[in-house]
Parts: sequence; structure tokens; C-alpha cells
Amino acid sequence: MERKEEMQRYIDKSKEIANRSEVISGIYNYCDRWCDRCTFTSRCSLYLTEQEMGWDENADMENQEFWDRMSLVFESTMEMLHESAHKFGIDLDNPGDVDISEPEETEIEQFARDYTLDIHNWLIDSQDYFDEKMISIASDSTENIVSVTDALEVIEWYSMFITAKTHRAFYSYELEKDADELSGDSQGSAKIAVIGIERSLKAFTVLYHQLPEMEDDLLGFMVHLEKLKKAILVAVPDAMEFKRPGFDD
Ligand code: SF4
Repeated sequence: MERKEEMQRYIDKSKEIANRSEVISGIYNYCDRWCDRCTFTSRCSLYLTEQEMGWDENADMENQEFWDRMSLVFESTMEMLHESAHKFGIDLDNPGDVDISEPEETEIEQFARDYTLDIHNWLIDSQDYFDEKMISIASDSTENIVSVTDALEVIEWYSMFITAKTHRAFYSYELEKDADELSGDSQGSAKIAVIGIERSLKAFTVLYHQLPEMEDDLLGFMVHLEKLKKAILVAVPDAMEFKRPGFDD
């Protein structure tokens, strides 16, 4: 199919799905993007569009087709964005005096980023240990191996996510703090960051019981996360009151 036709098919499909009664508008804004574990796939327009376009969600990142699709989604989205902007009399080709400078990174964002980097290095450095440990735990009990594997997967998944959402919470706050009305984006982003932290803490407790040799590292990460969670909740005190579409309805 020609690229132009495929773009139009994507735009038509996105609009059709967004209008379905069961679809929850904006549910993907404050989820954890872990579609494989999500219980709302049938109500999420992002997920449904990918599925119904017939795209393989497990496409190889190296695969040219995958990157072609990424470009197609980007171009189609930009076309829809221009359409909407035009309706509101906004000229996206001429942003005028819009201030697009990045607010400075806060200490809390840096603290979150340190966690991501530490986890990244720890997972790489400990790979041999995990491999050996998996074999020995597996010979004792298949139930435990699932817990350790799941826990590591949870920790890895949220390690980047927590930092990205913490950054988004502070970025939105900086952009909106002088506005008459807040969109709630800083609260919603802070809330999902905290949820990611809490899930990671649960995963660490699984490892804590299974991997006693790692006690010092695990406790260090848990303390880091607890401090980060407290700092986020002090900075965005009403975060947990935010109602995430679908998840908190
Ligand atoms: S709401 Fe669920 S299905 Fe949709 S993007 Fe988020 S995790 Fe994926």
C-alpha cells in the first residue's frame, strides 16, 4: 500500500476508534505503558489502533518496517495536529513568541535519574549472578524463579519510567504554575511516577527474600525509592488525588 494511503488509513482508524463508546479518552496519558500487563487494552485507543492496523506489537526494533511505521504514526499525528490547530486559528508553522526553553532540572529529577542509571548499571553488573542464581533457585522451586524473574522485569520496566514521569511532572508544573487553571498533568504524572515507585518497592521485597547476598544493594535501592517518593509527594502534595481516566474511575 502506498505511504499516503497507509497514512490516511491510520488517521481514519484512529478517529473511528476514538469515537467508540467503550474507549476511554486519554487513558494512555497516565498509564504505565506496559500494554502486555494492562487490563484496559480493549478500551485504549492507542492499543486498539496498533492492533487493528495489523501491526505486530513485538516488532523487532531493528526491523526497517518498525521504523517505517514509527515515521508513519508521527507524520499522521502531525497531520491531525495541524488540522486541529487550524480549526483553533493556530498557525503551527509560525509559533511567534512562544517560549520553548526547557525549565532547569530540579534536584528531585536528578535524584530520579540517578536511580535509573544505578539500576541500569546494577542489572548489567549482576547479570552473571542472576543467571547462576536463577538456575539454583529453579532447581529448588519453579514458583520462586517466576517471582525473581517477574520482580526483575518490574524493576527494569519502571526504572526509566519513574524518571520520565518525574521529569514530566516538574516540567508541566513549571509551564503551568502561573496559569489561571492547571490541567492536572503535573499531578497525574507525579501519581503514575509514585505508582511505579510503589510497584518497584514490592518487586524489591521479593528479591530481598530470594537473594540474601544482594541485601545491601537491594536496601540501598529501596531507600533511594522511598526518599524519591517522599520528595515527589512533598513537591506535588495533591498528586494521589488525581483521577487517572479509566484506572481511577
Ligand atoms: S492504557 Fe494500557 S493498553 Fe493503553 S497504552 Fe496504557 S498500558 Fe497500553
